[in-house]
Amino acid sequence: MEFILPLAALVLIVAFVGYVRRGQQKTNCPECGSTQLHIVDKQLKELKQDSTIGYSVKLDVSLILETRYRCQVCNHTWLVTAPEN
Ligand SMILES: [Zn+2]
Repeated sequence: MEFILPLAALVLIVAFVGYVRRGQQKTNCPECGSTQLHIVDKQLKELKQDSTIGYSVKLDVSLILETRYRCQVCNHTWLVTAPEN
């Protein structure tokens, strides 16, 4: 039974790496469409939102991941924000 835990960990790592690679492939330069990108900056930010529903006020705090990319072809830089799950 001892081999199941490392095996499960390995499966998780492989799945995570595959997920990260798939996520990176989806990003293209909005200017020239190139996939040769350089990540300049990556940071987590807290996003606070006041939402009023009827008479109750709810404070939503969610984390977003801000990634700044630079295109290696045309040097265009842009910011991609994604919710951190
Ligand atoms: Zn570009």
